[in-house]
Amino acid sequence: MAENSPSGDSITFLGTAGARIMVTSQILASGGLWLSLSGTEILVDPGPGCIVHSTKRKLRADKLSAIVLSHRHLDHSGDINIMVEAMTQGGFKKRGWLFAPSDALEDEPVIFSYLRNYLEGIEILQEGKSYSVGNISFTTPVRHIHSVETYGMIFTTPQHTFSYIADSRYFDGLCRSYGGELLIINVVRLEAGHPFDHLSVPEAKHIITELRPKVAILTHFGMTVWRAKPWEIAERLSQEIGIRVLAARDGMKFDLSQLD
Ligand SMILES: [Zn+2]
Repeated sequence: MAENSPSGDSITFLGTAGARIMVTSQILASGGLWLSLSGTEILVDPGPGCIVHSTKRKLRADKLSAIVLSHRHLDHSGDINIMVEAMTQGGFKKRGWLFAPSDALEDEPVIFSYLRNYLEGIEILQEGKSYSVGNISFTTPVRHIHSVETYGMIFTTPQHTFSYIADSRYFDGLCRSYGGELLIINVVRLEAGHPFDHLSVPEAKHIITELRPKVAILTHFGMTVWRAKPWEIAERLSQEIGIRVLAARDGMKFDLSQLD
């Protein structure tokens, strides 16, 4: 698929760091997912570094139609204000939509109030709801178990369906709620049974086995996963499950035509 082809679907991993230590050390970059879907540009979870890594890759924020925030934690929201400013050309163009859970906008908002007028609109994410951006639709099928209000998404383009499982403690509802040809999954921990509200490698393996996508991409690595070499974990999971599992790399662009 040609670069910036309006009919193609691609996902650029601006960063692959997850949780506090990996993000504050920047051993891996952070910055979220940049979706180019059939000519519609959507930014998901603009963590710290998003403005740097997106501009470096010549991804144009002023072409974005929407920014979608899974939850308010800093590793997902750190650059959300500057990305709203970039999407709206400093507020000179009232454009673009913001989708976020209510607790990202209320008591201690992560999106400054003065920026909200720059946007075409804000929509509150809720469990079981569907949303549309241009020719793309997405749903937030289930509220995750995490310390703040958190949703993953299932995106549907004219050609593909894929899921993004954002931060969560494991629960069976994840296996029942998500689907599609591609699964992107945030895997912070190497071992299960830890006290944190994050998915581990064995839990990710279980989810991939249950959902059986054509391809699964691991990302948002915590220190324990990083030390264990995510690409080796992905290779091992591919062999064990019989499904192609990839470990995202900083700056990796995945073209969804690989699924066809
Ligand atoms: Zn989180």
